[in-house]
Amino acid sequence: AIVVRQRLREAKRWARAAAVLCDLQERCAAPAARLRMVADAMDVEMRAGLASEDGSKLKMLVTYVDSLPSGDEKGLFYALDLGGTNFRVLRVQLGGKEQRVIKQESVGVSIPQHLMSGSPHELFDFIAAALTKFVASEGVDYHLPEGTQRELGFTFSFPVKQTSISSGILIKWTKNFAVDEMVGKDIVAELNEAIKRKGLVMKVSALVNDTVGTLAAGRYVDNDTIVAVILGTGTNAAYIEHVHAIPKWHVHLPKSADMIINMEWGNFKSGHLPLTEFDQALDAESLNPGEQIYEKLTSGMYMGEIVRRILLRMAQEAALFGDHTPPKLETPYILKTFHMLMMHHDTSSDLKTVSLKLKEILGIESTSRKTRKLVVEVCEVVARRGARLAAAGIYGILKKLDRVTCSADKPRSVIAVDGGVYKYYTFFGQCMESTLRDMLGEEVASSIVIKPVDDGSGIGAALLAASYSQYLQDDEI
Ligand code: BGC
Ligand code: MG
Repeated sequence: AIVVRQRLREAKRWARAAAVLCDLQERCAAPAARLRMVADAMDVEMRAGLASEDGSKLKMLVTYVDSLPSGDEKGLFYALDLGGTNFRVLRVQLGGKEQRVIKQESVGVSIPQHLMSGSPHELFDFIAAALTKFVASEGVDYHLPEGTQRELGFTFSFPVKQTSISSGILIKWTKNFAVDEMVGKDIVAELNEAIKRKGLVMKVSALVNDTVGTLAAGRYVDNDTIVAVILGTGTNAAYIEHVHAIPKWHVHLPKSADMIINMEWGNFKSGHLPLTEFDQALDAESLNPGEQIYEKLTSGMYMGEIVRRILLRMAQEAALFGDHTPPKLETPYILKTFHMLMMHHDTSSDLKTVSLKLKEILGIESTSRKTRKLVVEVCEVVARRGARLAAAGIYGILKKLDRVTCSADKPRSVIAVDGGVYKYYTFFGQCMESTLRDMLGEEVASSIVIKPVDDGSGIGAALLAASYSQYLQDDEI
């Protein structure tokens, strides 16, 4: 009788867990019809954001980048990449058309947690110190043209209202940054002051978003690059727009007829997004409630956390991990998307990695194969939804650019993509690409190329520092 009772209890638990999963699958579903509505909404919001300053959830920021690297860039340039948990400094010796990137080096430094929500002074002093140290290690292979000073491309991966190619005001923080005092201030001025305090002689010649850097890096290797997407800690896209399609932009007409727009698509929101109660709770308890909703569904900072919340529910409601809820499972953000993808990609028959990660990260000692399989399914639901929504976003941009229908002189469209989620989460990348292909249809899809671009936010920023070099420009004029 005891055995029977145990089995019965077990069966009930499974029924409850399965019910949670079923419900989740239903709520996270993003069928083709829904994706089209998301894409249409993206297209509509893009136009609204271009039309007026506060016309949309999409800021559609004018970047002052009106020409992209040609390959002719020459000289020594530095870049600084700030935007995730790590920041990086980089230098590159550019050799012009023939030689391209002659040599490059970079150093990554992780930012102590307390600096991400401390004072601007402390954060920028820390950055300037790392930069100073890096400059001091410059070897003899690097050559600074005579009469010039070191120039820096500053990749700052947050929403910024630029006031020129090399200045801009922080609109708000995203991801895990919250240096409140910085909001509304010129971040280049802040960096310059910190650089000065260190006694370093260096000038910021380009302030760029990581998407813009990625677009530049993509363009450097492929001339048909028109869009760049970041799928990393956060998510965003930038693309090349015609100046006449930016009604809100009447400061002055730039030389060329094009302007790179930083969409800040992470803040996209639409009634068509498949949101669950898990997403709502995550949002409510986040650093930025009500904001970056699309980002919270598709990016690396949040997907692992969504999975954690779902598993917690299954633990509480269906005793998925035994009679007691594992305490670590109650810790926000303990499960990273990186852990999630390792579990999701586990192809071993006994799901060894899954059991290892559950143990290492969540302190869950032993699990049945059935339980581990369920964990993988949860990862899959969350990743698939994110990937399909990302595909819909890209489709929306292509639609706005009139690249989703067949035409005789079909131009090739290259989309440069970078970011840890895209690079390491193979399932995510593949799902995104196949979803996009389905949406486009075979014929149109054959002219659309998704191109992984490594390190756009480093090399790309250095290239833009070169394009917008003070010295070059003086020469030209
Ligand atoms: C930021 C964007 C950035 C993206 C990817 C978002 O949270 O708002 O500026 O491009 O993350 O790093
Ligand atoms: Mg980055």
